[in-house]
Parts: sequence; C-alpha cells; structure tokens
Amino acid sequence: MNKAKNNNKVTVALVGNPNSGKTTIFNNLTGSRQHVGNYPGVTVEKKEGYRHFEGSEFVIVDLPGTYSLTAYSLEEVVTRNFIVNDKPEMVIDILDTSNLERNLYLTVQLLELERPTILALNMIDMADASGLKVDDAKLAELLGGIPVVRTNGVDNKGMDVLLSSILKYSDTQNSANFRLNYGTDIEQAIQTLEPLLQPIYQKLQFPIRWLALKLLENDTNIIDSVKTLTNADHIISTCNELRLELIQKLGEDVEVFIAGQRYQFVGKVYQYAVDNRSVSSVTISDKIDKILTNRMFGLPIFFGLMWLVFNLVFTVGAIPSDWIDQEFGVLGQYLDTLFSDGPLKSLIVDGVVGGVGSVLVFIPSILLLFFAIAILEDTGYMARAAFIMDRVMGRFGLHGKSFIPLLLGFGCSATAMMGTRTLENPRDRIITMLVSPLMSCSAKLPVYTILIAAFFDEKIAGNVLFSIYFLGIILSLLMAKIFRSTLFEGQSEPFVMELPPYRIPTAKSVFIHMWERSVLYLKKAGTIILAASIVMWFLTTYPKDIEYSRDYDALVAQAEEAYTQQISEEVLSKLEIEKIAENENLVMLIDMIQQEEEKFAEETKELDEDNAEYIKLAEEKTAKNTVIETENKELYHYAATYVAFTQGLEEKKGNIENEKSGEQLAKSYAGQFGKAIEPGIAPLGFDWRIGISLVSGVTAKEVIVSTMGTIYSIGDGNENAHSMTKALQKDEHMNPLVAYGLMVFVLIYSPCLAALAVMRRETGTWKWPAVSMVYSTGLAWIMAFIVYQGGKLLGFGS
Ligand code: GDP
Ligand code: MG
Repeated sequence: MNKAKNNNKVTVALVGNPNSGKTTIFNNLTGSRQHVGNYPGVTVEKKEGYRHFEGSEFVIVDLPGTYSLTAYSLEEVVTRNFIVNDKPEMVIDILDTSNLERNLYLTVQLLELERPTILALNMIDMADASGLKVDDAKLAELLGGIPVVRTNGVDNKGMDVLLSSILKYSDTQNSANFRLNYGTDIEQAIQTLEPLLQPIYQKLQFPIRWLALKLLENDTNIIDSVKTLTNADHIISTCNELRLELIQKLGEDVEVFIAGQRYQFVGKVYQYAVDNRSVSSVTISDKIDKILTNRMFGLPIFFGLMWLVFNLVFTVGAIPSDWIDQEFGVLGQYLDTLFSDGPLKSLIVDGVVGGVGSVLVFIPSILLLFFAIAILEDTGYMARAAFIMDRVMGRFGLHGKSFIPLLLGFGCSATAMMGTRTLENPRDRIITMLVSPLMSCSAKLPVYTILIAAFFDEKIAGNVLFSIYFLGIILSLLMAKIFRSTLFEGQSEPFVMELPPYRIPTAKSVFIHMWERSVLYLKKAGTIILAASIVMWFLTTYPKDIEYSRDYDALVAQAEEAYTQQISEEVLSKLEIEKIAENENLVMLIDMIQQEEEKFAEETKELDEDNAEYIKLAEEKTAKNTVIETENKELYHYAATYVAFTQGLEEKKGNIENEKSGEQLAKSYAGQFGKAIEPGIAPLGFDWRIGISLVSGVTAKEVIVSTMGTIYSIGDGNENAHSMTKALQKDEHMNPLVAYGLMVFVLIYSPCLAALAVMRRETGTWKWPAVSMVYSTGLAWIMAFIVYQGGKLLGFGS
C-alpha cells in the first residue's frame, strides 16, 4: 500500500538553485503569496503551504535556494538536514532549464541523498526561447530513471502534471537508481568505510554511501555529528588516514577531486541530453549588461534609477495621500459632532484618529515604493545592482552578499537582519546587521514625507528625500568600514554571484509585493501603532488637574465682554438700536458678508498667503464686497465692522484655547518627560515635543508620526486643524533646517524594537542589539548636530 495514500498526507520539499523559481511554483501550488524576487537569496527560511489534490493532502515546503549541499552556508545545511531528517515523501528539484548545466550540479548531490526525487524543468519557456532543446527521456535515463516534468512557473503551466507525478512516484522508496562512480581510489575508500559505518549510519539518518563520501570530503558538520556517537574515534581516525592516502594518490584535496568528478559527470549529462547548437552565445541579457554593469556607467545609472524612484514616490504618492488625509479630517470632524466633550471623545479623536490616521495616510507612498522595488527586482536589475555595488562594498569591508539584506533594509530592518543568514561568516553577518538599519526602512518614509511636505518646496521634495536615502547608504558603508577595522579585523571572503537573465516583471508578482507590504503595514497600524497611540494619548492628556499659570476661563470671559462693548459702541449705539436683530437689513447684510468670508476660508484652506491662487481669490472677495457695499451704502460699514469684530473674537478665543491646551500638554506626563530630556536634544534644534516623538518611535518608526499627530492635535485647541502639515508649519520651533536635521536623526537613530529583537535572536546575545542602539543613537546625534549647527553657521534656519 502506498505510504502517502495511507495517511493521505504527502510532504513535498521544493529544492533548487537560488532564483530557479521555487517560490513561484510554491505559490502556484499552494495559492499562497510568498515573496518572489528575481535575485538570489530571497527565501532564507523554509515555508510551508498546503494543497489538496485528488484526495491527497500535500504539505509543500519551500526550502532556501542552494547551489550545493556542502556545509559552507546555513541554507545548504538547512536543506540537506530537512531532506534527511524530515524525510519528505517527495523532493522536487526545480531547475532553471536555461541554465541547466549549473543546476544539475545540485541535482547530482540531491540524488545521492536517496530520497524519491522529481526533476522539474522550470523556466522551460526561456530555454525554448533561446533555442535550447532538452531530451527529457535521455536526461531521465542518465540520472537513473528519475521522472522529469516540464514547468513554467510564471504561466502556471505543468503544475497538474507535477502533482500527479508526486502521487505516482511518492510510494517508491528511491525512484532513481542513481550512483555516480568517483573512480577506483575513492570507491575503494568508500568500501573501506561502509562496514565501519554500518552500525551507526541509521542513527544519523543519512544514507551510508553519502555519509562515507562526506567524511572523505571532510565535511565538518558531519564529522561533528559522527563524533557524538560512541565508537566514533575509530571511524574518524580511519577516515583521516584514508583521506591522507587519497591526497597522496590524487594529488589534490579529496573535496576538490570529488567536486571535479561531479562537474565532469554533469558536463557529460548535459552534452548527451541537451542540444544547444542553436543557442546564440551572446544573449540580449548580455548586451543589456554591457551597459548597465559597465565599470563607468554602472554606478551613476544605479543612483539615477534610485533618484527616479524617490521622486516618483514623493510626487505621485502625495496625491492619494492628500485625499486620505482629507477623509480623516472629515472623519475627525464627524466624530467631533458625534460625541460630547470628554475623555472618550478626546481618546477617539486625538488618540486614535489623530495617531493611527496620521500613519495610514502614507499607505500610497509605501505601496509606490514597493511597486518600484518590485519592478527593479523582477526585471533582474537588482541583481546587477548587487554586482555593481559589490565592487564598492568590498572596498568598505562589506561582503558582496550583504547587498541583498541591505536592500531588504529599505523595506524593513528586521527582515534585513533575517536576510543576513545567507552570509556564511558570522563577522560579515554582524557587520551587516549593524549597518542595515541605516538603509532607511519604509516605516521612516511617513516621517520624511510629512516634514518635506511641510517645509520644502514641491520642486525639490524628491531631491530632499533622495538625499536622505543617499546619506543612509553612504553612512552604512562608512560604518561598515569602521566596524571592519575596529571590531572585526580581517578580510571578507570573495563573492561569486550569477546574474539572472532580464525578465519582464509579471503583474502577479508585483501585486504580491505590494499586497504583502500593505497587509504588514495595516497589521502594524492596528496593533502596535494603535497601542502606542493610546498610550501616548494618555501620557499627553493626563494628569488633568494641573495648576495653570493663568486663568484661561477668565481670559475668555474678558474677551467676550470687550467684544460686547465694542459692538454696542461701534454698531448698536450708532444705529440707535438695542439688538442686531432689530434691523432686518443689517442681519441680511451680515449674513451675506459672513458667507463670503466662510467660502473664502474654505477655498483657501490649503493655500499659502503668497500663493497666486490665494491672491486671485482674495481679489475676487474684495470685488464682491465692493459690489455689496455700493448696493448698501449706509449699512455696509456697520455690517462689516460687526463681522470683523466677531472674527476677531473667535480668533482670540482660539488662541487662548491653544495656549491652554499647550500648557496642559507641557505639564502632562509626556510633557514632563520631554522637558526633562530637552536639554539633551536642544543643541540639535529639537524641542521636547520632538523628543517625546523620537522616544516613542523606538517601538516602531511609524509611531513618531502618530505621536506627533496626537501631540499636535491635543496641543492645538482649534479642532478643525487636523492637517499635521499646517500644525507643523505653525510651530515656531520648526523650520526647514530643524526638519532636515530631524530627518537625519530619524534615519540613523536606534532600530525599532522588532529589529532589535530579531538581532538578539540571530546573534544569540543582547550585546549586539545594545551596541546597535548606542552607536546609532550617538551617530544620529552627531549628524543632526552637524546639520543643525552647521546650517545655522551658514545662515539657514531662520
Ligand atoms: P526562487 O529563488 O527559486 O524562490 O525563485 P523565485 O520563485 O523567486 O523566482 C525567480 C524569478 O524567476 C522571478 O522573477 C519569477 O517571476 C521568475 N520565474 C519563475 N518561474 C519562471 C518560469 O517558469 N519562466 C520564467 N520566464 N520566469 C520564471
Ligand atoms: Mg524563493
């Protein structure tokens, strides 16, 4: 009876070289949406998904990509241990058919693990297009009768054949009868070792022949496992002797010789099973690469593209953001009317809408950023960027492979830190983890966007944004250099990276990227940001029973009294009436003028006073008033006076209200805390409100904006000023120089809690997160200091 059909659960492992399409096929099979990228090293953790097919339940596991099954890097060990220990019913070896020869090298090693295996000739479309002809039957035969299936991950072709083949072959213990002959010397050594291994090989789960080979290859991971067993000393010593003998006989390292044999075999298989006579040796990809990876132009092209991306994010992203911003304004006003004044209303309007709302506004920008990154990735450009940057990074002591984790850092520092798993050397990993937060993560984008919108001209907005990201890149290189030459002396290992062919990105893959991101962002907004907003609301609203320095209520009463008196003197007594209502014409006229004023205020809400549109509207208003005036010669003066006084009173009351909330905020828990740290950040031009926002931002970087949202909506008694841009512009502590310094600080200072936690997990100690926090905050302070004080010296910032 078929084992798979017995319990109806079939575990299927997807294995293959990086970038061969494993995740694409995984997504096709399971209907899930995992990150697919046209560059190696995207999948570092194994992922599981499920699929129901013809009465069987498949558990499909997407393993990290690997070129080989030695013990040189984590993903290789993860992959081989999974196959051996978890004993998947079926291993699917996914090959990039357009690079068949290189991909077969892994296949040979997989077959030696003696699990049932199917070959999926993926990217068959690309092989066809280039004129490569594969003889499936011949290939199967040369590899010991292994089943071969053709697939196209992007067009979702061949998936059903793949699934039925899994069902069909998963009951055979070892479907392929494959054994590579390594020549008499090695084979003899294997034969000597096998009897010794006989009693123990089952314990280690690995096939006996494979174990013998690995011991001869001096695979540290396997040697260590053998050492843990009783009776192992004899095995290890025999093995060492054999290895020495072999080195003598072969004239080179056993490991190198074995690898050579595998390459030779693969070369032969390729020669017999593949007809590549009609493949032209210079592909279009090669031609494009001549330009894009050119020594001279490569780097400028890379930065030019990045520049374009940030301009796009800023200019296009601002449009939908403005709409959302307005909707939240409307929502705030609506909630304002819905609740009566009190703590609940304040919590909802100031805390939740002010906080979470201010963060949600940035979804369009974030989506655009990921749209652009997705396009660059999927076309294959990012792999070129890695190639170009490798030359630069090497000079700064960074491993070329660090580029991918650093790139992931533009999305999220925590992801970047997990991405460092592709680095073999622990020192390279730690350096990369320490500098990856300098790649400005997407959570910081809202902070930049809001500050740029408030303080910089639209024309240079994209450049300002680009300059911040650029600064991050430069600083990460410099810091890497410093870490390399202080904490971790020594050379980093060389890096070989293949360049995937250029592809047209698929809508699906781009969509998955953006979807993934927005879900993450929304989740964050609904959890950590919401919680932080509520906490910040509490800390900024309480204690309530503070002692005010002035009696604000009395001030309001005074202003109202003065107003009544003015109206009575300047309007009522002159017209010899007691109340405005006595003169119907006057009431009508006042109404008319007020309506004009309101309309004007509404239309100019978003405009500056020196804006051409504003001036035009102001002129129109004056013209209309002149018309009203000529039609109502005797009464106009009084009506206008009345309106002006009323407006004056409203303004005065608003100001008093603002002062009161301002003082309340300053004396709140958060305010007290902010004031306490203010001396430390005053040299950077930051006041205590920025201080609170920055401290709260360590929980998650979006919280900087949500805290500012709460602070400014509480500190602003004027309920309809929900737009944070306006509130920032009105703040006399803020100006373009402070804003730029603040952006620099936010770019550099401490990673968020999530990133620190991942760093702890990945390094196994709190030491590195602590180092990271301290150095980055120190560096942020220094850089912001330079920006602010330097800027002041140069005469900016007034
Ligand atoms: P992984 O690293 O093995 O997980 O590879 P991915 O699934 O991330 O795919 C790498 C790239 O190859 C992506 O850009 C995919 O869209 C693309 N890709 C996957 N399968 C095919 C295929 O059959 N044909 C073509 N032309 N492209 C494919
Ligand atoms: Mg993958």
